Amino acid sequence: MRISIAVGARMNQQSSVKLVLFVEDESASRRGYVMYLTAAGFNVQEAATGQAALSAARARRPDVIVLDLGLPDIDGWEVARQLRAAPATAAVPIIALTGSDLPHERVSAMRAGCDRHLAKPCVPQHLLETIQLCIGELERKGREGR
Ligand code: CA
Repeated sequence: MRISIAVGARMNQQSSVKLVLFVEDESASRRGYVMYLTAAGFNVQEAATGQAALSAARARRPDVIVLDLGLPDIDGWEVARQLRAAPATAAVPIIALTGSDLPHERVSAMRAGCDRHLAKPCVPQHLLETIQLCIGELERKGREGR
């Protein structure tokens, strides 16, 4: 398996417990998903702003990032671009949460560097499955850059 910066970064959490960085400014919505993902066995780091998301991603090297695109400071598209531009976070899968399922939302999320896209409101089970899919892909083939 190809050794990447991201794989090395995860060695301090060798166990099967994965870290999800959950970025959403609406606290009620965020808490609900965080409780669900925690109950499903994930470690979850929360962030309510784009700046907090960037700091947390650099500091903790999450396995997956769930990123609401509508954020109060730096919007999610810019957060995704900055994550992709930084070697330390370039390979971390990003699941975008957007306000609608319109094609242009999906396209703009992908262009910003997101791997997947879910429209809100998103059933927690669907988010969980998408996270598991991302982790499975990452573990299966390693990450060959983007
Ligand atoms: Ca939002």
